[in-house]
Amino acid sequence: MAELLVWMNGKLMPRSEATVSVFDHGVLYGDGFFEGIKSWDGKVFKLKEHIDRFYESAHFLEIKLAQRREEMCDIVADTVAANGLHQGIAYIRLVATRGVGDLGINPKKCKDDPTVYCIASEIQLYPEEMYQKGLHCITCNTRRLSVQSLPARVKSLNYVNNILGLIEVNRAGADEGVMLSQDGFVAECTADNIFFVKNGKICTPAPFHGILQGITRDSIIEIARREGFEVEEGTYLTFDLYTADECWLTGTGADLIPVIEIDGRSIGDGTPGKVFKQLRSKWRDYIDEPGHSYPIPTKEEALSKFGMATAG
Ligand code: PMP
Repeated sequence: MAELLVWMNGKLMPRSEATVSVFDHGVLYGDGFFEGIKSWDGKVFKLKEHIDRFYESAHFLEIKLAQRREEMCDIVADTVAANGLHQGIAYIRLVATRGVGDLGINPKKCKDDPTVYCIASEIQLYPEEMYQKGLHCITCNTRRLSVQSLPARVKSLNYVNNILGLIEVNRAGADEGVMLSQDGFVAECTADNIFFVKNGKICTPAPFHGILQGITRDSIIEIARREGFEVEEGTYLTFDLYTADECWLTGTGADLIPVIEIDGRSIGDGTPGKVFKQLRSKWRDYIDEPGHSYPIPTKEEALSKFGMATAG
């Protein structure tokens, strides 16, 4: 199999050559941000929304990107195409850091020359059978960071808070962890948003509880409203999860995945629920809707942009 090609600072290169300096402030201090994006059969899902969120993170962290948004969309599309990922699912990781600088956290030590790279590969967050059977979750002791400390809407390179949650999940032998906000309300899971259903109403924590406002989350809310469901973005306790009829998670990497148990308690009848199944049945059509997908070029077109020829 051909070596994966990574776009980095304007060039397309084999993954073995795509390296970051040990003095990069993204590595030294987590000073940077990223996006996780997905393409389905050669069309990138909600790319413009992901790129907008990417530039919001950039603006918030005052990291100036040299590329315009439209160029960034093409960088993503070209990276997927150059790797021949026109069929099936590809997971795309777009990363920007403050760049190389001297030691010391002060951003002034970097010279307004961010490191930017894009990987198009694959990701499997949960084994296939869990999508059918559902996840066993715990509630983590580690709380999400307060919005006053680090707003979760910045997709920063600091995921240690979430990783601490996952360490608890792994130690408990569970599949995922529900993380609460500083004041004890349900926020989200370690890398996914959470939904539950109670008496036919779909509920999900409001963004002010310190969650990343997921693009998959917003899409599912739209599908649910189209299907005639009432959707509430609110304030919830673990009580609401324990007494819910169904529960599921959403995220670009995870996709839509049911939850059947939290802290040893069965959710509903302990199997994936019917509202979840109804929304999941609409998911692929929604992804394929014209306004939701960004087409990628052919492999030849993408490679030739970078002066590279197709092998064979
Ligand atoms: N919450 C967190 C903390 C995340 O990292 C992610 C992305 N993996 C999500 C929620 C889901 O967001 P999206 O649907 O945009 O991928």
